[in-house]
Amino acid sequence: MKKEKNNNEQMEKIVSFCKRKGFVFPACEIYGGFANAYSYGPYGVELKNNIKKLWWKKFVQEREDMVGMDGPILLNSRLWEASGHTEGFNDAMVDCKKCKKRFRADHVVKELTGKDMEGDLAGMTTVLQGGLKCPECGASDWTEARNMSQMFKTEMNGIDGPVYLRPETAGAIFSDYKNIIDSMRVKIPFGVAQIGKAFRNEIVARNFIFRTREFEQMEIEYFVDPEAEWESVFENWLTKQEEFAMELGAKKEDLQRYEHPKAKLSHYSRKTVDVEYNFPFGFSELFGLAHRGDFDLTSHANASGIKLDYLDAVNNRRFVPHVIEPTVGLDRLILTAICAAYNEEAVEDELRTVLKFPYKIAPIKIAIFPLLKNKPELVAKAKEVYDMLKSEYMCEFDDNGNIGKRYRRQDEIGTPFCLTIDFDTIEKDNTVTIRDRDTMQQERIKIVDLKTYFTEKLS
Ligand code: ATP
Repeated sequence: MKKEKNNNEQMEKIVSFCKRKGFVFPACEIYGGFANAYSYGPYGVELKNNIKKLWWKKFVQEREDMVGMDGPILLNSRLWEASGHTEGFNDAMVDCKKCKKRFRADHVVKELTGKDMEGDLAGMTTVLQGGLKCPECGASDWTEARNMSQMFKTEMNGIDGPVYLRPETAGAIFSDYKNIIDSMRVKIPFGVAQIGKAFRNEIVARNFIFRTREFEQMEIEYFVDPEAEWESVFENWLTKQEEFAMELGAKKEDLQRYEHPKAKLSHYSRKTVDVEYNFPFGFSELFGLAHRGDFDLTSHANASGIKLDYLDAVNNRRFVPHVIEPTVGLDRLILTAICAAYNEEAVEDELRTVLKFPYKIAPIKIAIFPLLKNKPELVAKAKEVYDMLKSEYMCEFDDNGNIGKRYRRQDEIGTPFCLTIDFDTIEKDNTVTIRDRDTMQQERIKIVDLKTYFTEKLS
């Protein structure tokens, strides 16, 4: 459900924080930027990889009913014809004739009237031309609402006709369904998971990494027996999606479900529910969950002429499985994790900005400091400890500025533990000070006990 509102102050704060702190940069900034595209910086890419790893662990590694795969971005265009994307993957756009600003027609109607008119081109035109004012310039001079394809077209040597950048990752799973059935011993119900880039020519890309034209999806196609009870499977996936958001730090009260009205469902869908997160611009779709019936496998079987069914050897039944599709945008999860973690606290007349990431996703797990930069013996010992820990954890060595400043820098990027080597370390007892990000409490731990200490804290 697309209903996010315009940027606000909190969002602006997060966008500039992400740039300043090396999480997310506007892409191609030296050339004036490029169409709401972003790069993940050094801490952003760690966060992203940690979230991917966690998702894969929860939904593939720890489940006997799941396998993974990784398909190409450029696929045979017949696949997108069969799935209906070439013809029907459209969004409605409308232009203000006065200021020439382009809008998603259903978004602007929703924003101005509260009505959800997605899919109703004629209705939206009537409402817009019936006197709605352009949010940009205040004029009331609209074009008709019309469809625009979200498919990105390109060309490929040796291939006639257009080739598309995939608009979703799911297509590759369906086109490899038979290979998976033939090569693995999967038993229904089973699922196939994939993480990868998807591309959509959005009419308006906005709200930072929430809506971009190039993004990353984490999708699952979960195949079930069409005669089996499916409601509890569906409910279970919804719960698992919410649980995952909470593992990344989202609070329960910041998540809500939105069930698509029956009248708006695609003809093949039995049920579609979005899990929305309370972003600074309002509750908006984070996850989607759809029961898609046998639409995908049947469409691809008809278009390719290859049977895409399943033989239940126990009951000797052959059928086309139904599919339940849990899907999520990785970039939206990253934004969720950052928004949920972002805290400003008053500490001794100072404002402390701290990202309270769950330890599992923190980009840097341990920061290691020599108390003084100009004491070679402290620096050497700190390097030794850094070398000992860095093979196990993402660590950072920092000897710049005073300890207080170094703590603040690590708080801002969400590092759970800071470790300081001082004179007691080398002259007395081989212990170090460990400072906890959340409580700001410090304790002394022996260097020989550090590995056990961090195994307990971070594993
Ligand atoms: P929306 O209504 O927000 O456009 P959608 O319903 O079209 O999303 P799906 O087709 O269900 O989205 O895509 C699956 C997931 O991919 C979404 O739940 C969302 O998390 C993510 N996603 C979709 N479009 C974008 C985008 N332009 N940028 C970033 N993530 C996206």
